[in-house]
Amino acid sequence: MSKVKATVVGYGVIGQRLADGVALQKDMELVGVVDAAPTLAVRALHEKGMPYKLYCAFPDKIADMERAGIPVSGTMDDILKQVDVILDATPGGIGAKNKEIYKKYGKKAIFQGGEKNEVADVFFHGYANYEKGLGKTFLKLTSCNTTGFIRAVDCLDRAVGVEKVAVTIVRRVADPGDTHRGLVDVLMVDPIPSHQAKDLMLIMPHVKATGILVHTPVSHGHIITMVVTPKKEITKEKALELFNEHPRIRVVRIADGFNSNTSLFQYARFLGNPRGDMYEIAVFEETIGFSGKDIVFAINIPQESVTIPETIDGIRACMEMQKDRLEAVSLTNKYLGLTKKN
Ligand code: NAD
Repeated sequence: MSKVKATVVGYGVIGQRLADGVALQKDMELVGVVDAAPTLAVRALHEKGMPYKLYCAFPDKIADMERAGIPVSGTMDDILKQVDVILDATPGGIGAKNKEIYKKYGKKAIFQGGEKNEVADVFFHGYANYEKGLGKTFLKLTSCNTTGFIRAVDCLDRAVGVEKVAVTIVRRVADPGDTHRGLVDVLMVDPIPSHQAKDLMLIMPHVKATGILVHTPVSHGHIITMVVTPKKEITKEKALELFNEHPRIRVVRIADGFNSNTSLFQYARFLGNPRGDMYEIAVFEETIGFSGKDIVFAINIPQESVTIPETIDGIRACMEMQKDRLEAVSLTNKYLGLTKKN
């Protein structure tokens, strides 16, 4: 099979990481990326020697980019003609407008969590419902939190069945540099149930979910506490074994120094991961415990990079590159270097 050609529209927090992730896939080609303005990320792309060709979303914005010294390879229409699939990582709501353009060119597209679910044929998670994405034209990824905790719930569900979960998200309120969100020093509580708990029920309708979300003034990662009611009783050892075997779950120990969201971010930097990215969620081993037969544990979500693997799974599904879920996710993992070294 020849390489699947992809582009990323919206080279921001998520888009940069999607571009890097796709570029690592040996069976995919990143034809280029699209943005609308000479943002800092676009300027950094230029300073790095333009590893990816840049296309401009709007013809009348090309001059802005060129004034900033950034070479533009053409317009979005030019690149859309060349690709099989588009990864739309524009701010929420813009993807729905872009969808009309993608339709005009008869192209498949994968949207991120900020779009409404109606934007896509399938609300998608690489591990939990890969098969539903097969051959579809429009997929939408779960948000960063949902992507992360579904990995853990699906992992337990496939082994022992999960009856219900309760999820408390301590959510990062802004990405680094999001000054438009204000300088916040407040813990803001949302009404129950959080949209992430509702989203879990859309992806895994057989699991009842609810949860509380507390917005927190930190920018590196979310911490989620989970209460999962299994259908069959499970031991801590079994849960640990399942989490340890999952390529996108990293089990860490508080005793080793992994005692916070920032310890994971630091560790990713010590590993030399670009931007301090980590694709895996982390389960804090010493937080695994029980309330009756319910299993409780805490996970860390690296919000900027966690959705990259499942989005790439989305390419595999909608392009029918692999019919088998595990074959697909394994290839994504292999190319992203998600081998269990930790
Ligand atoms: P961002 O603001 O960092 O990046 C968006 C980029 O899109 C910007 O570079 C902007 O210039 C560009 N853009 C705007 N309009 C455009 C257009 N018409 N055509 C092409 N490019 C355009 O946003 P983000 O944080 O990367 O979020 C993107 C999507 O990913 C949203 O749906 C968001 O909800 C979702 N998401 C974000 C995070 C996160 O941690 N930031 C995590 C998971 C999912």
